[in-house]
Amino acid sequence: MRVSLSFLGTGAPDVGLDDMSAVAFRASSSLLLLDSGEGVQHKLVRVGVGLNKLGSVLITHLHSDHVVGLIPLVQTRTLMFKSLRPLSIYGPPGLEKFLSESFNSLYFDPGNAIEIQELREHEEVRLGELTIKAEPLDHTVITLGYSISVDRGFSLCYLTDTRPTARDGLRCSILIHDSTFSWVDLEKAVEFKHTTALEAGIIASKVGAKLLFLYHISSRYRDRGFLESEARRFHPHTYAAEKYTYVNLSL
Ligand SMILES: [Zn+2]
Repeated sequence: MRVSLSFLGTGAPDVGLDDMSAVAFRASSSLLLLDSGEGVQHKLVRVGVGLNKLGSVLITHLHSDHVVGLIPLVQTRTLMFKSLRPLSIYGPPGLEKFLSESFNSLYFDPGNAIEIQELREHEEVRLGELTIKAEPLDHTVITLGYSISVDRGFSLCYLTDTRPTARDGLRCSILIHDSTFSWVDLEKAVEFKHTTALEAGIIASKVGAKLLFLYHISSRYRDRGFLESEARRFHPHTYAAEKYTYVNLSL
């Protein structure tokens, strides 16, 4: 089985940067979008993922840099591909209200082109050969991370935005983790409920990750290599994800 990741945005919010959270994850016949930051539909097309190929979207929380790209994405997909199967959208409580109020305000009715399912912490959903579990996170608003298990023992964990929280027993082959700040800015990480790169390295060791991708990185760090070195003190196989980083694995 082939598994791939396309990072479509990897930064924390910043005026002038087109780098908001979104990752396309493909495993066998399943194609998921993790978060949906601004401009995501254009980036999907740019990396060769047609909107008609997308089956599901997992939203972590209702901060704009993770969710506003969903509005134009749904609208474009619905208008372009009328007879497609519905796009399944999963996320925390409040997601359905956000989407219905947004579409109402825009005089747009997606009809049955979308199916929304709000998840509770620890709830599991089966999507084809994937099992998705909602992981409780610790952020300024209700936030869910996701562990996505593929048969044959591979799992991708997507934990952002959050303070370090990985539950006991969580195992991740690849971990994508909030690394908004450096350890030298720990106070800011605590104040805004994010994680430092060093802490992400510790979490990656705890969950047995083979690869750690630092993610949701503040633009104050021009040199992301600095954050990689910090995390590598605890987890050598660490990389700071960049927009359009592509990872392809065969299991
Ligand atoms: Zn957030």
